[in-house]
Amino acid sequence: MSVLVWFRHDLRLHDHQPLWDAVQAGRQVIPCYCFDPRQFGTTAFGFPKTGAFRAQFLLESVADLRQSLQALGSDLLVRVGQPESIIPALAKALAIETVVWHQEVMAEEVAVESALETKLAALGVRRQVYWGATLYHPDNLPFGVDQVPEVFTQFRKQVEPRSGVDPMQPTPKTLLPLPSVDPGRLPTLADFGLTPPAPDPRGVLPFVGGETAGLQRLQDYVWTADCLKTYKETRNGMVGANYSSKFSPWLALGCLSPRQIYETVQRYERERVKNDSTYWLVFELLWRDYFRFIAAKHGKRLFYSSGLRGLVIDWKQDWKRFEAWRTGMTGFPLVDANMRELLATGFMANRGRQNVASFLTKNLGIDWRMGAEWFESQLIDYDVCSNYGNWNYAAGVGNDARGFRYFNIPKQAKDYDPDGIYVKHWLPELQAIPAAKVQEPWKLQSVEQRRFGVQLGEDYPQPVVDLAKSVQANERIYNAARPLR
Ligand SMILES: Cc1cc2nc3c(=O)[nH]c(=O)nc-3n(C[C@H](O)[C@H](O)[C@H](O)COP(=O)(O)OP(=O)(O)OC[C@H]3O[C@@H](n4cnc5c(N)ncnc54)[C@H](O)[C@@H]3O)c2cc1C
Repeated sequence: MSVLVWFRHDLRLHDHQPLWDAVQAGRQVIPCYCFDPRQFGTTAFGFPKTGAFRAQFLLESVADLRQSLQALGSDLLVRVGQPESIIPALAKALAIETVVWHQEVMAEEVAVESALETKLAALGVRRQVYWGATLYHPDNLPFGVDQVPEVFTQFRKQVEPRSGVDPMQPTPKTLLPLPSVDPGRLPTLADFGLTPPAPDPRGVLPFVGGETAGLQRLQDYVWTADCLKTYKETRNGMVGANYSSKFSPWLALGCLSPRQIYETVQRYERERVKNDSTYWLVFELLWRDYFRFIAAKHGKRLFYSSGLRGLVIDWKQDWKRFEAWRTGMTGFPLVDANMRELLATGFMANRGRQNVASFLTKNLGIDWRMGAEWFESQLIDYDVCSNYGNWNYAAGVGNDARGFRYFNIPKQAKDYDPDGIYVKHWLPELQAIPAAKVQEPWKLQSVEQRRFGVQLGEDYPQPVVDLAKSVQANERIYNAARPLR
């Protein structure tokens, strides 16, 4: 009797309950991954749904999973097509008794699961669905998912004292070989009409997809570089590999399980040091859980322009300004440096994401969904719940939005990049401007522009908006919002 393990956003062998349960039961395991062409179409605003950076990270992760399965004596069946067609056909051809997978929560993924369930039921194939995406299992929460508190602090204050994190599942040591079946070729970027992105040496890390690289990053960050003990102080940085953990791309595809990180933090606390920083990494994982549970609770509302809060705001779809934002040409160095980093590498620091999202929505007044879709296309750590949840929050349409709040870009730049190191790293045209002036180049007089070799409007853009006036105008628009009926 065999069990097909359908891999999705859980591309790992460690802490994988569907896989471990099948192995424990002595079943023949058929591991399978489907590249769903719908994930390689275009978004509503016309961006590649899975851009080249993200697609490359995914391909590397699937390749790594295949290698790890081969090392255990098995293999990964790789197919390109819709899972709800491919898996029932495999189930029939290979006389599979049960199909198991990790459940997802958002509309696209749930629709695929439902279609698959229906087809498998018609074939008399059993299904077993697991939960494995979060640190806290929903069964251990002090409330049902439909009762998840709307505000993060309330969520955290209830979860921390009243819930526990389950221990990790063991990693299988060996697997039975596959029956006679074509394992399938791993597709290339070209198969999806994508061009391999050029590696940019300015990036924070040479991110490589897969469980092997994810576990290595965990080892490097926590043990070798010993950065966990200062995480809370460094986490708002933007330059270099170690200001933050950079676990997010591996978490997004499930190459790292959150419980693996949690257990590592616990071991570090026992063996090295326990302090605010070690707690804070777990605290951030709780944000990740919160966004997933909130998404599960509210479903499609997360994608509405009016957001979880149901606020109908008169957003603009100004493509000229949006392009200036997307390509890092707004005339505001902090925004431009972050957007150019995203464009060149598929990654951006959390501090940057907050600033660019605030600028798009509170200064440019542009529809937040355009920004969210660009992030979806570009971010190697794209996670539907974290991305759309954070964008809801930044746009002021999240469930715990507290009125019109915005980031003061020059102040943020002075606080988090006081020496201009980050902006100069990504904006070479501003190289010669002294640190005290580099965050506000629009204030440079003509003689200074000549001295620093940057002519505004030629070498670097004039600001696309007046910061103070644009905030006032967009606040008026925000305050005139109507409730969604
Ligand atoms: C507009 C916007 C969009 C975002 N989109 C995504 C996304 O698509 N995918 C994604 O994983 N994160 C997203 N984030 C959250 C956050 O920016 C990233 O998780 C973080 O920058 C990843 O870097 P890190 O792993 O070094 O983080 P660390 O600071 O080391 O944090 C450790 C882990 O905690 C989790 N985490 C930290 N902050 C958040 C947060 N605000 N929300 C949810 N989880 C968090 C992540 O899993 C992260 O890997 C977004 C934030 C904003 C403001």
